[in-house]
Amino acid sequence: MKQYFKNIYSSLATILIGMGITIKHVLYKPVTIQYPEQKLQLPERERNRLFVNMDDCIGCDQCAKACPVSCIEIETIKAVPGDIVGKTGLTSQGKKKALFVPKFTIDLAKCCYCQLCVFPCPTECIYMTDVYEFSGFTRDELLYEFTDMTPEMAVGKRKKAEDFAIETAKKKEEAAKLAAAKKVAEPKAPEVAKPEIKKDTES
Ligand code: SF4
Ligand code: SF4
Repeated sequence: MKQYFKNIYSSLATILIGMGITIKHVLYKPVTIQYPEQKLQLPERERNRLFVNMDDCIGCDQCAKACPVSCIEIETIKAVPGDIVGKTGLTSQGKKKALFVPKFTIDLAKCCYCQLCVFPCPTECIYMTDVYEFSGFTRDELLYEFTDMTPEMAVGKRKKAEDFAIETAKKKEEAAKLAAAKKVAEPKAPEVAKPEIKKDTES
């Protein structure tokens, strides 16, 4: 009989302790938020999705070389005399743009957000944004393309650069041939006999 009442007391005490903890937590200020309706303020130097301002990119490839996981792919085409790269041919800091960038892809599925690509950029055109909501259903959705050139424009520029390279090589070859012909046609200077040097045999 004594054990019977002891069990009832123990059950009631356990329920009351549990209820006490629950009620205490109901009165606490919540530590969680109702995401995505509510969002926390991001830290000052957070690292999120990368962005490239192609108006300032000079195609130097420094960012791709610094990337430890090789997730940046850049393709460039040399501008030929008379070409204007981008809108003005210059970056916003006045640096000359000599390369077209028909491909600038960042695979954010591979990116580890180390920010190592940001520091070597000479024009500060690649940087981390505050965008962190960019999930996708396929890996391809995480391939971000930044070039402002269409594939047709790239084909045209590539052809122009190739033609220019061929023309330059031809000109160089012709100039070399001309220089060689000139050398052959030039009269040779008479050979001057070298004075004989007598060896000192006594020493
Ligand atoms: S943040 Fe790091 S991993 Fe991502 S692209 Fe830049 S260098 Fe590569
Ligand atoms: S380092 Fe900067 S300027 Fe050079 S290719 Fe990368 S983004 Fe462009």
